[in-house]
Amino acid sequence: MKRAQPIETRQLLHSEPPIFEQGSPGRSGASLPPLDVPAVDPVAHFGALARAADPELAEVSEVEVTRHFTRLSRWNYAIDIGLYPLGSCTMKYNPKVNERVARWPGFAGLHPAQPPSSLQGALALMWSLERLLCEIGGFARATLQPAAGAHGELAGLMMIRAYHQDRGRHPTQVLIPDSAHGTNPASCTLNGFTTVPLKTGADGLLDLDALRAAANGETAALMITNPSTLGLFEERIAEIAEVVHRAGGLVYMDGANLNALLGKVRPGTTGVDVMHINLHKTFTTPHGGGGPGSGPVGVVAALEPFLPTPTIEKEGTSYRIEYARPKSVGRLRSFFGNFGMHVRAYTYIREMGGEGLTRATEMAVLNANYLRARLQGAFPLAYDRPSMHEVVFTDKRLKKETGVQTLDVAKRLMDYGYHPPTIYFPLPAVTGGAGALMIEPTETETPETLDAFADALLSIVEEAVENPQLVKDAPHQTAIGRLDETLAARKPRLRWTKQSST
Ligand SMILES: *Cc1c(COP(=O)(O)O)cnc(C)c1O
Repeated sequence: MKRAQPIETRQLLHSEPPIFEQGSPGRSGASLPPLDVPAVDPVAHFGALARAADPELAEVSEVEVTRHFTRLSRWNYAIDIGLYPLGSCTMKYNPKVNERVARWPGFAGLHPAQPPSSLQGALALMWSLERLLCEIGGFARATLQPAAGAHGELAGLMMIRAYHQDRGRHPTQVLIPDSAHGTNPASCTLNGFTTVPLKTGADGLLDLDALRAAANGETAALMITNPSTLGLFEERIAEIAEVVHRAGGLVYMDGANLNALLGKVRPGTTGVDVMHINLHKTFTTPHGGGGPGSGPVGVVAALEPFLPTPTIEKEGTSYRIEYARPKSVGRLRSFFGNFGMHVRAYTYIREMGGEGLTRATEMAVLNANYLRARLQGAFPLAYDRPSMHEVVFTDKRLKKETGVQTLDVAKRLMDYGYHPPTIYFPLPAVTGGAGALMIEPTETETPETLDAFADALLSIVEEAVENPQLVKDAPHQTAIGRLDETLAARKPRLRWTKQSST
């Protein structure tokens, strides 16, 4: 190993107040001609709905706005800047061809309320995307409406509840492994279900005996993530599904981690009844930054009547929008969901083809296992098994030998130019009390990048041995140093002062 070095940051980074504290009263970025019609009193027309006379907007020039947001963007990290190994998030590169296609005027210029006769191309794209996702996941139908993975979970659980009610049943519980993503129990609670946690077995997989003991007539569903958030494949999924079905429940799979399964496993054929898919993870639509996501949900035939309305149906060569769905859980999103994401995901799938998607999965799993092999000496695994698309290391050894822990390693990685991985998830209860470093490299990284990243982590271990304080005080190269995260959460300082900018 060549000892890696922190990056040298040599660029101008402006520290400045929020936009609301810039500018001066009366300054504006717009120059409009004088009013040539009678002024209107909004309160007379709209009453309480009228906007305040002074909406307290920033009073700044166009130049100030442009510079402020461009400067802020330079403080940011993005997948177009470097490796973003955030486990469970599948931060893969978003191909630029997706963006080009989504900007074609025929897509970008549509209004969703146009008559369907003038939306035939868009309807065809969504109809085809639904078929492609069903083919990939092994499902009968899918809805494209949900705007994110968590929204997909909500949609799936609503359909599960409707399915049981349609059979005159009212089971109250959802079983969830203790390694699950936090959105899983949240979606259950929002749906009025109680969650029953299932402890992870000694091998890191779902404990079948614990499942057998918990499954009964109150079981509405099991919510399982496969591969689990430990990056491990639930090999006994068919048996697991059988236990749940025998108790009268359904199997919901959190399919946010589908990047490990493309072309290898079709969850719908393994006993899974409902699954959401994150287009903004596996299918290269952009992710984060407040942008729109998309979390389509696939279902087996028995749940088709409960899909959100409307659906898109094909008749001959034309497409229509179907609202008459008496058992539907209803509408979950305006219009058809985030159509721009559908265009990007469709472009990606058609560009890759079945073989390309299968290869992407193979490379994603290979990359994670490569990092596992390079790093597990320094960072013992949470569970010592081959990984799927991501690998969960722990700080067990480092903490014991140097006192440096997960958070310090994550912060020091920033000095080497990397976005930190996901940390402390899965929770210490699942990782034997140790802090987790959950790393998902994705298939889009080169061997050189993976090696440089592994070298950086191993260099940090050397630093921790030589000078633990250096690592504990990191980051040193970033615009803002180590923050007191508890204080920041408890007493957020939302106003800019000279002192808070340092
Ligand atoms: C990302 C993720 C989710 C939630 O998806 P969002 O689009 O962020 O709502 C749920 N489960 C798992 C396992 C995930 O990785």
